[in-house]
Amino acid sequence: MSSLNIISVRPQWQQELAQSISDPTELGAFLRLPESWTAQNQTARELFPLRITRYFASLMKPGDIHDPLLLQVMPNQAEFEQKEGFVADPLEEQSGDHAGILHKYKSRVLVILRGGCAINCRYCFRRHFPYQDHHFGRTQLQQLVELIQSDEAINEVILSGGDPLMANDDQLFKVITALEALPQLKRLRIHSRLPVVLPSRLTEELARRLQVSRLQTILVIHANHPHEVTNTLKGALARWAQHDITLLNQSVLLAGVNDSADTLADLSEALFDAKVIPYYLHQLDKVAGASHFAISDERARELEQQLRARLPGFLVPKLVREIAGEASKTPL
Ligand SMILES: *Cc1c(COP(=O)(O)O)cnc(C)c1O
Repeated sequence: MSSLNIISVRPQWQQELAQSISDPTELGAFLRLPESWTAQNQTARELFPLRITRYFASLMKPGDIHDPLLLQVMPNQAEFEQKEGFVADPLEEQSGDHAGILHKYKSRVLVILRGGCAINCRYCFRRHFPYQDHHFGRTQLQQLVELIQSDEAINEVILSGGDPLMANDDQLFKVITALEALPQLKRLRIHSRLPVVLPSRLTEELARRLQVSRLQTILVIHANHPHEVTNTLKGALARWAQHDITLLNQSVLLAGVNDSADTLADLSEALFDAKVIPYYLHQLDKVAGASHFAISDERARELEQQLRARLPGFLVPKLVREIAGEASKTPL
């Protein structure tokens, strides 16, 4: 056998990723959406490209322009609206000293491990983020290690993005190994939407590597709607749970997607079926182009109250927002 055969074997998830949809017309045809609707919306791809896995597209209801999963990914002409208070960098992240390393909260340091993602969510607060400046290579890993060593208050590293699971297992193993060598660290957290849009990314190899780590591992997935919590995802997460990985979820409140108590309650129930505890429910970050997803604080609090009345406490996520410069997320 020649060595070329080895090179050609790409993991399943990378093959699926290569088949992603980036053309609104293609997504429209796949879902049999009205052509006029697709045509009028697709100009918004100039603001932020369309990107979606075929798996995630297959969860949408054909012919339904109000499908809650479609609304999260399809460019929309409403994104051209400029609304007071909605800005390019709502969390004032784009001025850090160390490229790709955000140390805003005392004990936790967040790393932009990979700029890209398998899905471009229209409400993404990093939709205008200059990711090209945030390559995380050997130099950045060294900087991260030095930052941690210089501050004994840091005991947890959060891998974020983009999406950190866009990195391949080899890259992740390098980062994990470097972090394990730092005795002050207790936990490694991975914040990723890939499990939801590409469940095949939850590989057995990665789970096993995390299980043998000295660091406690937490995977925070990002599902917004119960339709995202499929049997496929449940199966993949159940396997990861067997590797001693704590599973949490965070969601964003989105008008037209999940701004109803029924939907949010169903989401919590579906998550727990998948061994996931609902962690945060975020009020939308005011990023330019996403104002049509906003709901009022008053409505958000009302929804939270309705959830409390219906669910056990551990299935009610904390309703928070992020305010630039604060020492933690802020309860609403
Ligand atoms: C949200 C966030 C964290 C993690 O906050 P937790 O409340 O611990 O989940 C850490 N760093 C940054 C920059 C964040 O935005």
